[in-house]
Amino acid sequence: MNFGNRIMNYKEDILNDLGELIAIKSVSCENAAETEKALDYILGRAKDMGFAVKKTGKVAGHAEYGSGEEIAAVLAHVDVVPSGDNWSIDPFTLTEKDGRLYGRGIVDDKGPAIIALYCLKALKDSGIIPKRRIRIIFGAAEEIGMNDMETYFSEEEYPTMAFTPDSDYGICVCEKGIMQLEISSATHDGTILTEFQSGGAVNAVPSKAYALVDCTESEDNRLRRFADAKPGEYDFIYTMDGLVIFAKGRAAHASVPEQGLNSAAHLIRILADNFGESVLGSLCGFIDNAIGTQTNGEALGIACCDEKSGALTVNLGRVDIGENISRALIDIRYPVSADSSAIFEEIKKRAESEGLQVKLMNHEPPLSADSDCPIISILSDAYESVIGVKPELYSTGGGTYARTLNNRGVAFGPAFPGDETHIHDADEGISTENFWKHAQICLQAVKNMSE
Ligand SMILES: [Zn+2]
Repeated sequence: MNFGNRIMNYKEDILNDLGELIAIKSVSCENAAETEKALDYILGRAKDMGFAVKKTGKVAGHAEYGSGEEIAAVLAHVDVVPSGDNWSIDPFTLTEKDGRLYGRGIVDDKGPAIIALYCLKALKDSGIIPKRRIRIIFGAAEEIGMNDMETYFSEEEYPTMAFTPDSDYGICVCEKGIMQLEISSATHDGTILTEFQSGGAVNAVPSKAYALVDCTESEDNRLRRFADAKPGEYDFIYTMDGLVIFAKGRAAHASVPEQGLNSAAHLIRILADNFGESVLGSLCGFIDNAIGTQTNGEALGIACCDEKSGALTVNLGRVDIGENISRALIDIRYPVSADSSAIFEEIKKRAESEGLQVKLMNHEPPLSADSDCPIISILSDAYESVIGVKPELYSTGGGTYARTLNNRGVAFGPAFPGDETHIHDADEGISTENFWKHAQICLQAVKNMSE
């Protein structure tokens, strides 16, 4: 029997603590106080278990067991994204239903955070003396740009090996670079488009868009015919201020924008088709010309691809146009071999030629771990001892803490291929069987790292 199996002795305690952690509404983009409460909760549990605990600022901390020069770490986060609508259960109540566990954060990443802590406990309870210090590092600002790890590593040393259970199985050895940009103009110079709003977080494909248009009834009829022939759903309402259009597309994560239907890009396309770009203003003109409904950056002149990481992606994440505002946010995920400054300069050149400003809001450099670095064989063995086969090495456009580790760590689990976990969406959940499989792999991995 593998060592990882011992995590099953803590089943009830894990579910109990997880229920309490999920009940804390630690939505980092909305409520910093609740988010810190979640961090304090898990650090408090670690302290109860007898571990050395340290908090770094209000956004990070760790529990440590063992001694030695080196550090091996598991990194997990206790903040979550907003629940959104359309849940079939209460998002902040851990619920088991039809063989699945549900709740905001059950997969991303509160479940893995609690499991990682109990792995440390299982190691200690088994009397294992690790050859290196084993740390479970907790962050509380992962979903809002990962500055938490910047804070943490400004005070703490880097682990020599680490993994973060915040992605999919097998082992993610390559993460694309992420650039988030704001494109804006000082004033909105459109004549017919009065207002436009779409999207929230830049790292999601917006599923809803709204436009207020100053137009005649005959133009309205033509617009409806255009809209009928396009993907997405459109509702038209006449108001005293003009014609209101609601567009509905399909949300997706910005790392896979091709899986969504961008309501903002499609609505702008319809408006441009009908009225021409010039009356929509320079920002909408740029969006329609340089981004459009594409997700590969071709129109922007930045499309590229490499074998290790795949193709560049572009997501139009948010558009705000009104009397005093005219801005769009875009999220670009570029392959590890691409030149990020060349991409930025190309976009800047294009936008500035249309009289727009470009600001780099956030840049996370890519991760590319060598396939022969020790953590990969350690994790590979752990996976094999529980599942029976070697895990695949893969690449993602998603961003995890792994990229904050100077190529010394990777993402590993917790989601298994084929299990629709709906992270960042309604009904986030995981099959109960897979949840415990992950727990076993995680403990086995922690044990292997201790040797
Ligand atoms: Zn996450």
